[in-house]
Amino acid sequence: MNKIAFIGAGNMARAIIIGLVNSGITPQDIIVANPSEAKRLNLATEFGVLQTDDNIKASEFADVIVLCVKPHFITDVCFQISQAIDITGKLFISVAAGTTVEQIQSALSKGETTNLAPVVRVMPNTPSQLGLGMSGLFASKEVTVEQKASAEKITNAVGKSIWLDTEDKINNIIAVAGSAPAYYFLFMEAMEQQAKQYGFSEEESRMLVQQTALGAAQMVAHNSAPISELRANVTSKGGTTHAAIERFKADGIEEIVKNAMNAAIARAEEMA
Ligand code: NAD
Repeated sequence: MNKIAFIGAGNMARAIIIGLVNSGITPQDIIVANPSEAKRLNLATEFGVLQTDDNIKASEFADVIVLCVKPHFITDVCFQISQAIDITGKLFISVAAGTTVEQIQSALSKGETTNLAPVVRVMPNTPSQLGLGMSGLFASKEVTVEQKASAEKITNAVGKSIWLDTEDKINNIIAVAGSAPAYYFLFMEAMEQQAKQYGFSEEESRMLVQQTALGAAQMVAHNSAPISELRANVTSKGGTTHAAIERFKADGIEEIVKNAMNAAIARAEEMA
């Protein structure tokens, strides 16, 4: 595996580093750069990775540079790096929503329109912290087969990933996976609230909802049958589950989900 630099040592960098170290990557092949000493020292102490306050130094060290700063810092950081060092052969991976490959390449290019830098955009989600992330990846045409494998290795260290054939699908990934953990939280919150109405304690309500969600997700994960079939298997006609499902349908669950996912895409487009 290549040497990897993380520019920005926040939540997402931490999640990926945990996954990489757990997957057997040598910590000394990883460097983190962050202005905050506390953040980078935490990662260095906990995982044995190298650390610096200098983005240039970190970028010089690595073949793969993972841009883990907030979207509004991405182009400044790219410009800073490309002005200071020769970036030939280095792969840039950005996890920022809303910053396009073209914007990143332009900030890296010193005004040239040829020999653009290879860039992979990744849209991860928060369960990456537990190694249960779901990421979508898009590669610019300059990315080599070996670099694609490196990018995939990084995202697979924190969960599962799929390649996207067009960049606009990053917004679809946001709707289906990036923002989606919160949809499930919202559903669980509503169930937890109702469980309390039925007289269960706070602790019991949380356990009932959490364990049921976990069990349902595991049943999907361990069974290749369509999800609709799993649902049908536990929905006897005229039974209690059937009554609940019919109520969901009558109240427009499909429409609610579709509208919410479309709203996430619309917001991602506005933010671009
Ligand atoms: P964060 O705020 O936790 O981390 C960002 C870090 O960057 C901070 O530690 C900050 O000190 C550092 N930083 C700021 N300016 C810097 C600079 N010039 N050079 C080096 N470091 C600098 O943010 P995060 O949640 O880790 O998100 C990072 C990126 O990941 C964002 O672009 C975000 O859109 C993307 N992302 C995050 C999630 C998530 O679930 N957290 C999901 C998808 C995408």
